[in-house]
Amino acid sequence: MKTRAGSKALIREINEALVLDVVRAQRPVARARIASETGLSPATVTGITAKLVQAGLLIETDVARGTGGRPARLLDLGRGAVLAAGVRLSTSEVFVLLVNLRGEVVASHREPLTSVRPEDVGESIARAVRAASAGRESATLIGVGVAISGVVDQASGEVRHSGSLGWAHVPFQAQLSSRLQAPVVIDSYANSVASGLLLFDGRLAGRDLLVFSVGPSLGASVVVQGGIHRGFSGAAGGFAHARVEAGARRPCHCGALDCLETWSSGWGIQRELGRRGHGDQRLDADAALLGEAGDRLGVAMANAAKMFGPERVVVAFTPEMNLPELAARVERVFRRQYEHENTPAPDLELTATDPSTHGRGAAYTVLARMFTVGATEQA
Ligand SMILES: [Zn+2]
Repeated sequence: MKTRAGSKALIREINEALVLDVVRAQRPVARARIASETGLSPATVTGITAKLVQAGLLIETDVARGTGGRPARLLDLGRGAVLAAGVRLSTSEVFVLLVNLRGEVVASHREPLTSVRPEDVGESIARAVRAASAGRESATLIGVGVAISGVVDQASGEVRHSGSLGWAHVPFQAQLSSRLQAPVVIDSYANSVASGLLLFDGRLAGRDLLVFSVGPSLGASVVVQGGIHRGFSGAAGGFAHARVEAGARRPCHCGALDCLETWSSGWGIQRELGRRGHGDQRLDADAALLGEAGDRLGVAMANAAKMFGPERVVVAFTPEMNLPELAARVERVFRRQYEHENTPAPDLELTATDPSTHGRGAAYTVLARMFTVGATEQA
């Protein structure tokens, strides 16, 4: 990424992000509208947009006929100049996709994993990004986002804990960026799903949401006024490791006892099946076990929602956990917690994800930095 020289360059960069963000939200849009939305002078907007058009970040499109005034060219986001990569890391493969500035997927690639050691995973991601980018050398890769199942501190770039990968305190962002020679952003599955929802859906701007990821591990993303809330710890949303039982003494892979994860994650259900002598069976093999998983999950989600008061709750099931009986149970239990009159119920949306959901969200995490003044500082 380019380095910054002095405050003039910083102001220019901030103004560029402001202009790009108005185009993102209102595309296609006239220069006069950009000036009124950003508060920049028409001359400044003309200068910035000329530069962005030259760089291919903006393109001129249709002509809008105003009332009385001269017809004006509208501006839209460019398609080819910059690309962002998004990676979904699972225990068996690396799935990578590339998106353009509009968030459209232009390429994807799958790379099987032979090992989950961080160095080997980093090498596989680098290989997958190279394969997906082949033939697109003229575009600038602005960064690589990686969605990881587990507790991820985006700011420090550390995977605090991932049960499925068996990782603890892995400085994965630094490891990966030295290999890729591109900025890297890492995040949890749940936050990646939230990022995928937020960037290009204007209806969600400024809204409060809760997004739950239900997969091999559990996760949650807390969205406050359209932005992901990280918390002082950097790990807000860690409801997987909230204790939900006092004395069952189920050890969790995080080191604690009786976490929700031990009852309701794919990992927890699989382990319990094994303990009952059905380790080789499907996750939905034991209806009672699955029902108990759904009950605890539905209650935990409603508890979190009541604490926070979002207008919408999204429950995203990964392919491994997309089980109709589980989803139905979670929905029933969640809704039942709102049957009384005194707490307004949020909209509940249950959705099945595929690897591209997380990959796209991870790519949008990178892409969002093109449109955000504060966040470009970190890139
Ligand atoms: Zn735990």
